[in-house]
Amino acid sequence: MHSLPSFDRAYPVRTLYTDNEDWRRCEGWQDADRRKAALQDYLRVPLKQVIYARETHSGSVFAVSSETGGSLAIKKETFVSAPLGGYDALVTDVSGLLLCIWTADCVPLFLYDTTKQVAAVAHCGWRGILDGIVPNTVRVMAERFGAAPEHIIAGFGPAICGKCYVVSEDLHEAFSMRFSPDEIGELFRPLANEKYLLDLRMAISLELRRLGVRPEEIRDTGICSCESEAYASYRRNGPTNPARQTLSGIVLL
Ligand SMILES: [Zn+2]
Repeated sequence: MHSLPSFDRAYPVRTLYTDNEDWRRCEGWQDADRRKAALQDYLRVPLKQVIYARETHSGSVFAVSSETGGSLAIKKETFVSAPLGGYDALVTDVSGLLLCIWTADCVPLFLYDTTKQVAAVAHCGWRGILDGIVPNTVRVMAERFGAAPEHIIAGFGPAICGKCYVVSEDLHEAFSMRFSPDEIGELFRPLANEKYLLDLRMAISLELRRLGVRPEEIRDTGICSCESEAYASYRRNGPTNPARQTLSGIVLL
């Protein structure tokens, strides 16, 4: 398991993202106890305090607040079978809850407000970006929990890079509704046959900056899931067993 040093070393928050080796080490990963042990060893978070989003490539955000105690989510004790369906981002101000999403080429986005103790993790693919997952997540952090974009640090986990992600003309058109012509020029590089290369991380960066997050606080692991065999990649391997995908999580201490 890996973490984002810019988060973990400087602030009372812990991040993680897994690689394929982590799942190989959990031989018999269907055994909940082994998976529980893997997570507990790493972050010392009891499994009942691990909350998963079952992504739908939407812009939907679920807030786990200290008022509700996240009662719906916290009672779920199984690893894969009881995630929170229908959400692509999770936000909380509650310490000790590990918020998780799964990806295989989409961008795992970590967000943390350094003054308000508010954390979020979001699954950002092209559909989610078009549906507003980035501004929606920042908005929930701000409006629900009092976070301020200028205090938010952001990080990207392993995701397909702008040199590998080939998309078709319709995405170019769809993104043009959300990004300026200059931005579209940065995000898309034309290829032959009406195909393009799309840089998802740059799209997220542009949106974060537009929302007021400082450019120097947007950090990238720089890992391309499609180029590195160590990470799950839909483009490289086709549909991946969801429980073998890259797990990204964040927990407030
Ligand atoms: Zn790449």
